[in-house]
Amino acid sequence: MGFFDSIKNFKNKIEKVESSVYTGNLSLVEVYEKNARLEAEIEARTRELDRANKQMLTLQHIWDMMNSSKPLSSVLNAIVNSLQGELGYLYSFIVKQKADNDGEYLQIVASSRDDLNKKFKKYFNCDIADYRMKFPDFEELKNAVANNQIYRSSELSKLICGFIPSLDENTVKNFINDAKMKSYILVPLKSKQTHFGSLLVFSSRENVSSSELNFLNLFAKQIELAITIADLFQAVKEQAVTDGMTGLYNRRYFEEFIKKEATRAVRQNQKFTVIGLDLDHLKQINDRYGHNYGDIAIKAIAEVLKNNARSIDIAARLGGEEFNLILPGVDSEGGCIAAERIRKAIESVELEKIGHITASLGVATYLEHSDDVDELLEITDQAMYESKRNGRNRVTVAKPAYETSWQDIAVNTFIDILTKHRIPVDENTSRFLAEKLQEMNINNEKLYQVADAVVSTYNPEHRTGGVKQKVQIASLLAKRFDLPKSSIDKLKIAVLLYDIGNTMLPKELLGKKEPLSEEDKLSIKQHPLIAAREILKPISYIADVIPIIEKHHENWDGKGYPSKIAGENIPIESQIILIIDSYFALLEKRPYRDAKTKEDALALIEQETGHKWSEKLAKEFIAIIRGDDI
Ligand code: GH3
Ligand code: MG
Repeated sequence: MGFFDSIKNFKNKIEKVESSVYTGNLSLVEVYEKNARLEAEIEARTRELDRANKQMLTLQHIWDMMNSSKPLSSVLNAIVNSLQGELGYLYSFIVKQKADNDGEYLQIVASSRDDLNKKFKKYFNCDIADYRMKFPDFEELKNAVANNQIYRSSELSKLICGFIPSLDENTVKNFINDAKMKSYILVPLKSKQTHFGSLLVFSSRENVSSSELNFLNLFAKQIELAITIADLFQAVKEQAVTDGMTGLYNRRYFEEFIKKEATRAVRQNQKFTVIGLDLDHLKQINDRYGHNYGDIAIKAIAEVLKNNARSIDIAARLGGEEFNLILPGVDSEGGCIAAERIRKAIESVELEKIGHITASLGVATYLEHSDDVDELLEITDQAMYESKRNGRNRVTVAKPAYETSWQDIAVNTFIDILTKHRIPVDENTSRFLAEKLQEMNINNEKLYQVADAVVSTYNPEHRTGGVKQKVQIASLLAKRFDLPKSSIDKLKIAVLLYDIGNTMLPKELLGKKEPLSEEDKLSIKQHPLIAAREILKPISYIADVIPIIEKHHENWDGKGYPSKIAGENIPIESQIILIIDSYFALLEKRPYRDAKTKEDALALIEQETGHKWSEKLAKEFIAIIRGDDI
């Protein structure tokens, strides 16, 4: 009997009692008994209604989750959580059968919050996750999944030993008792007509009614829907060409468009200009008025760009507060006029509370400043930074790529790192160093002084002038290996930055009292490389310096780290840094040894030939050091 039928039935019974009371046919005892029966029925119906309500709420909750654009994993976790506790279900999971080179295994995709793992740990002394679980090898369960049918059973230890056969059966039984589980229900889940995984529910009750199985089936359908919708969201997101917040084009579209535009420009011999734009002092706006006002400022910029763009221009928000404009058919002169018009328009906007905002712009033209798209975007970015450096709220035209010096790039990089506090140098020192770099007429000496100062923050033994020597040796070595100017420039920048990650050594590791494990040692060794990438990653114009830095601990014999690449697979720039770094480290004192003399250091460098570096590199290096008397 359905739920609504039983309510109707119940109503009929009440009517019968009422009419019998009025007609006076029944004795008082009978009336009393009937009333008692009805009351019991009312209670049962109320419970049923309550349960139906809860089920509805659960489904509603899932529906809400699905309509938000949260990632699938958090939707699934929320779903299993909403199931837990509702109907005496103690623990719920979504599990998935997977396979890799070692064969099939079972993955827990989502689990309810009530931590079964804690109990598991108590009995087995390790995490469930430490085991490679497998799908239990018994026919009934396998058949149920294959036929997409619900399976329920109270043979819990068979299931758990099926997942992890190495467990001791008696301990498993104690664990099950302690966890108060009486039975389990497994509901296969399908997505796009194929098996996705299974919903696995552990219940505190041994018996499960058929209406409950219906509910679980319905519930599984909702999970399947959530999976399908999450897939759709992902597909739609991947196809989107606009940025949700501003309606401007997004980075994906921008990158596609500029490539096509470059091909067209070459074919038709027609230039195009890129304007890079960054909102000034957004952080201050966020800090002072809150993130919402920061967003308002970003949207205001977007409006100005829309109003100032011709129909063929492409205005894009690349992320955060960073915008780019492509002006097809426009040369640098026209580009500057457009950029200046945009700058003025932004300056004249007046926003509630915030007041006026400004932006810094950079302009670069394809086939004028560069004929390579990536390079064009890099120099646009550098021009924009130049605007920031010169006081913001201004337009700077890019220097042609061939005129940009490595010092310009290095100075901009250090200013970025220092002013954006990408390394933990105290604020006064950062400001002082950044100001030093910002003075006009940058010369090499200032750049080296700042680089020395930064190195000294993490290496107390560092000698002033050390960075300059390293750059000089690197440059000499590079020439002996016939590297082109562009590679030598990259190498010089890498020499200034390769150890920047040392500023971020993890304190918890350094503070460890007990002897370091091999794992800790590797982590300490690798951490600076990871940190360097994190520090430098946001600075787009040095993107091609990062791989050089990341490989400067690889050894010629493949026994270095982190990738264990060997020989010619290691970029020569990285090899050069390794030998220079090793040599200079030997000249410095360490807590566990004295500083080496030049000759001792060179002898050690020679010893490592064939292991750490190639014979040719060692030979050239030693010749340079001996010849130049460094
Ligand atoms: P500068 O003039 O040098 O560009 O200073 P700035 O504060 O604008 O630049 P910085 O790059 O130091 O900081 C950018 C800040 O913008 C950091 C980030 O919290 C904030 N931001 C990035 N995206 C958004 C966003 O979508 N909304 C808001 N409100 N803030 C954002
Ligand atoms: Mg900014």
